Amino acid sequence: MFLQIHKAMIKAYEALSHIIFPSSCVGCQRELTISEQFLCLHCEDDLPLARFDSLRENAVVDLFFGRIPIEYGDVFCLFNKKGTVQRLLHYLKYMRQPEIGRYLGLFMGLQILTRPWEEPPDYLIPVPLHPRKKIIRGYNQADELAFGIQRVCESPVLYNMIRRQKNTSSQTKLNRWERYLNANESYEIENFENLPFRAHVAIIDDVITTGATIEGVGQAILAVRPDIRISVMAAALARNA
Ligand SMILES: [Zn+2]
Repeated sequence: MFLQIHKAMIKAYEALSHIIFPSSCVGCQRELTISEQFLCLHCEDDLPLARFDSLRENAVVDLFFGRIPIEYGDVFCLFNKKGTVQRLLHYLKYMRQPEIGRYLGLFMGLQILTRPWEEPPDYLIPVPLHPRKKIIRGYNQADELAFGIQRVCESPVLYNMIRRQKNTSSQTKLNRWERYLNANESYEIENFENLPFRAHVAIIDDVITTGATIEGVGQAILAVRPDIRISVMAAALARNA
């Protein structure tokens, strides 16, 4: 098992080796050594890891209870306001640092391999970004996370099989029900008929807050393929969700 993980990590780092990394720690701004990437060893050790005891009964799974059935639910970290996780995700989304998604994806993939998922998911499905946002940003941060996960656990990423149909207005001013409706109406599914019966897919996102986005994606999948088993893996869970 450890040999497999070691090999997977080497492959993953090889894939990243051509990228020019920022020279100071995203967490504490200290200058990074040549062996550090994005975070210094201190900030990396200090990440608020979620460490759920169970992947079938925890805060992520609870959040989706009665909304969509979840096989496994897990996150890498708990979201700490004004902390390192928030800064990493801010750099990932707004500072044109897609490599941070791949970096976080390696940890998420390692977590999927080492925690009791029983088997890695058959496919990874990044939560889609609205096409206009993707043009502005240049990439979908969930695609980058999924790419990093794939480097470690080798489950293929299904890119572009789910599309947002319309631009969801900023969700921050909506209540949970409005967010639900907003998310639920805006996903279009393609090519799911080719997936094997009872395929196990992991929906990948950066942060879970209300869970409305993942619920929308999950419901859109189940509407065309009710046999598909859905798991959830995100970089962070906002605790006040
Ligand atoms: Zn640091």
